[in-house]
Amino acid sequence: MAETNILSGKVVSDAVYTALEHRITALSTNHSAVPGLAAVIVGDDPASQVYVRNKTRRFRKMNLHSETIRLPENTSQQELLSTIRTLNNDPVFHGILVQLPLPKHIDTDAVIHAITPEKDVDGFHPENLGRLTAGKPRFIPCTPKGIMRILEHFDIDPAGKHAVVLGRSNIVGRPMSILLSQKQSYSNATTTICHSGTSDLRTITTQADILIAALGVPEMIDDSYIKKDAVIIDVGINRVPDKSDKGYKLVGDVNFNAVQDIAAGITPVPGGVGPMTIAMLVENTVEATESLFA
Ligand code: NAP
Repeated sequence: MAETNILSGKVVSDAVYTALEHRITALSTNHSAVPGLAAVIVGDDPASQVYVRNKTRRFRKMNLHSETIRLPENTSQQELLSTIRTLNNDPVFHGILVQLPLPKHIDTDAVIHAITPEKDVDGFHPENLGRLTAGKPRFIPCTPKGIMRILEHFDIDPAGKHAVVLGRSNIVGRPMSILLSQKQSYSNATTTICHSGTSDLRTITTQADILIAALGVPEMIDDSYIKKDAVIIDVGINRVPDKSDKGYKLVGDVNFNAVQDIAAGITPVPGGVGPMTIAMLVENTVEATESLFA
C-alpha cells in the first residue's frame, strides 16, 4: 500500500473553494451579485436528501444563496414543470438543479429539457451536452468535470494514455469519455467506454492506464480487472447494509482493499469524487452568475 497514492477529492475541492473566493468577492463588489442555486427535490429518497443537504450546506458555507424546494412524492409532472418555469424566471437563482432520480411517474427528460440551459448548472440539458460534445462547453456535468480536476491536481496527464470508462450514463460515463478524449491539455487520451453490453470486460479494463468506474455495482472492480500501476477513479456511491447504527455503509464500485497494492493511485469512497461533484456545482453556479456580466 505504501506505493499507492490516495487521490483525495477533499484536498482538491478545498483548493477549488479557495480559488473561487476571489471570483465570488468580485461578483459582490463589482455587480452586487450573489450566486444563487435553487435545488428541487421530489419525494423522500434518503440518499437524495443527503446529497441535496450536502450541496446546499456548501453554498451556505461559501456565503452563497441557496434554496431547497421540497415537493411531495405525488407531485404531478405539470406541477414540477411549473415550478421550474418559475425558477427559470427568478433572477435570484443563477443555477437550478433537480435532484435525480425522480419518481417513476415523472418524465425525467421532460424535466431536464424544461430547465433553461443558461441555468442548467448540472450540465444535463441536451443543449449543454451537445455543446460539450462539440468541444464548446457551457456547463460541464459536475462529476466528470470534478474527475478531470482531480487528474490535473495530481499531475496525472491522460495524454496518450488508454482511459477506460465503465458506464455510459449522461450524468457520468458518457461526458467523462468525451472530456478524456478532447484535444487539449490534461486530456487527449485514447478512450474506451464500456457498459453492460460489453463482452469480456476484463480484457479491456486490464489495458487501462486510467480506469473510471461509474457502474453503480458495489465493489465489482477487484484486482482481476486492473493492471499494475493503473490510476483508478471510483465514482460509485453505493449503500450496503452493515451493523452500524445507520444500518448501512457507503462503498464504491471498486474493491479498495483488493486493488490498493496494485494501483498507482485511487480515489477513496467517501472523500474522493463526491466532494468534487459539489465543488464543481459551486463553480458552475459562479460561472453562470459571471456570464451575466461578461
Ligand atoms: P447509471 O445511470 O445506473 O449507469 C450505470 C452504467 O453502468 C450503465 O451504463 C450500465 O450499462 C453500466 N453497468 C452497470 N452494470 C454493469 C456491469 N456489470 N458491467 C458493465 N457495465 C455495467 O449510474 P450513474 O448515474 O452513471 O452512476 C454510477 C455510479 O456513480 C452510482 O454508484 C452512483 O451512485 C455514482 N455517482 C456518484 C457521484 C459522485 O458524486 N461521486 C455522482 C453521480 C453518480 P447500461 O448502459 O448497459 O445499462
